[in-house]
Amino acid sequence: MLLSIVLPVYNEQEVLPALFAALPPVLERIGCSYELIFIDDGSRDSTRSILNEHAAKDDRIKVLAFSRNFGQQAAITAGLDFANGDAVVVMDADLQDPPELLETMVEQFKKGFDVVSTQRISREGESIFKKATANAFYSFMKKAVDERLPAQCGDFRLFSRGAVQAIRKFREQHRFMRGLVAWLGLRETIVRFHRPARAAGETKYPPWKLVKLAWTAISSFSAMPLRICLSAGIMLTSFGLAYSVYAIYAAIFIKSTTPGWSSLVCFQLLFNGATLTAVGLVGDYVGRIYDEAKQRPLYVLGDSVNVDSSGCAHRVVWINPPDATEAEAPHVFRFEEAKANPARYRKSA
Ligand code: UDP
Ligand code: MG
Repeated sequence: MLLSIVLPVYNEQEVLPALFAALPPVLERIGCSYELIFIDDGSRDSTRSILNEHAAKDDRIKVLAFSRNFGQQAAITAGLDFANGDAVVVMDADLQDPPELLETMVEQFKKGFDVVSTQRISREGESIFKKATANAFYSFMKKAVDERLPAQCGDFRLFSRGAVQAIRKFREQHRFMRGLVAWLGLRETIVRFHRPARAAGETKYPPWKLVKLAWTAISSFSAMPLRICLSAGIMLTSFGLAYSVYAIYAAIFIKSTTPGWSSLVCFQLLFNGATLTAVGLVGDYVGRIYDEAKQRPLYVLGDSVNVDSSGCAHRVVWINPPDATEAEAPHVFRFEEAKANPARYRKSA
């Protein structure tokens, strides 16, 4: 049996030594052959060179390097595209997904499950704010998106080869892997674990990125926000109509038409705000449809080590490989020279 481990990495130079110390011994213990597929998601620190060093020594360590940062979900997609294993595990590189759990996950896989998900019983080293927002997110997703979305399950998951083949067929731009898995309805079991704090380095998910991921999750699986808008719109319009009837009645019969300037302003703001929010929301969905219509690749590979990626349609050949000579990349040399000698290349007035 071949076990593939897919590890998206983005600026993880601090944590990689700990990962390389912890992961291989666990895999040796499990006793099956394995491959580690690292997806370098456009890191700007020395992640790349650390990975290349390990890959040079061991051809079971494979590296796919993106041309820029495409995000963790795209990195997972690339990993699943290139994994050859009978079982494929997706895990974070920061040891928050404990490698020791792999043994249990493989046992469950051998029992015949297509997907082995992991559920966090506790979360160490995370702020109360993050825990609270995560809880709110999971319960909303369960109600709005899919009943089968288990709470507190991240992307740390084992897939059978069949499950991977099914997932590979989904090429949508705005991806939320957990949602896809729930949607597919594969035979799934859950292993529970205590999630430790990051072994080193910092989280790559600042709050705005989490909000973006949450919104992708909601909007790519549910039209509920649009329906909420519609209901709110109907409610506000009914209220407006009722108020108009009352205003006409008051003007004709009670003759108490006090200058209702302030209430008018309030209603104007309320209704205009609601309209703009609804239009913005629809605009966001339309934007997402536009993204899908373009059918762009989900990621672009820069290069790869120990993986044959020549067949990958979305691959760029570096114009400026680090060891290029002046004859091979004259424009790069000119650019470097211009940076060093700005005076020489300044535009004449
Ligand atoms: N990651 C990535 N691309 C990104 C952000 C994160 O490949 O744009 C990787 C990161 O290197 C890590 C995993 O995704 O291996 C999870 O990220 P992180 O640990 O920062 O998230 P958290 O655990 O804080 O939610
Ligand atoms: Mg983490």
